[in-house]
Amino acid sequence: MNDLEEARESARALVNKLGLKAPPVPVEKLAKALGARVEYTPFDDELSGMAFVRDGKPVIGVNSNHHPNRQRFTIAHELAHVVLHRSKLDATVLIDKGRNFLPRDSVSAEGIDRLEMQANAFASELLMPERLVRNMLSESSRDIQDDDYLISIASRFRVSLAALQFRLGRL
Ligand SMILES: [Zn+2]
Repeated sequence: MNDLEEARESARALVNKLGLKAPPVPVEKLAKALGARVEYTPFDDELSGMAFVRDGKPVIGVNSNHHPNRQRFTIAHELAHVVLHRSKLDATVLIDKGRNFLPRDSVSAEGIDRLEMQANAFASELLMPERLVRNMLSESSRDIQDDDYLISIASRFRVSLAALQFRLGRL
């Protein structure tokens, strides 16, 4: 199992414990259950979020100006840093910039720091668990190339269309 698969496995284990029957995954509740504080702040637009430790407790900062679905991805991404990269967090603040965490193609993906790739893999799996995505796709005979259909699924999971398309590319 490589490091990205390990990140996905970690997210899968968390989701399985929730025993969810249907989306959306309650990501903020999950973060709090894992001991993280979630704080909303109107950061500059290019800053999505950050993770750090304050008084021994992990804190997830989210840009309150961003779309709620994007905030959910940010929380999931930062939660990955809390769960997977805690030893780094104890020493530094991880700040996430960029309009979109999701690599557009394999070339840009290679340019992204390994920790960020792990956090994205975790977030994608956490917010769009394979079992729930497959269940939903099997309920309909519609084509996943159909944007309207994809948008309706994205809204059920409360994720962006780009995040869903990225996820489907990995199923
Ligand atoms: Zn990050």
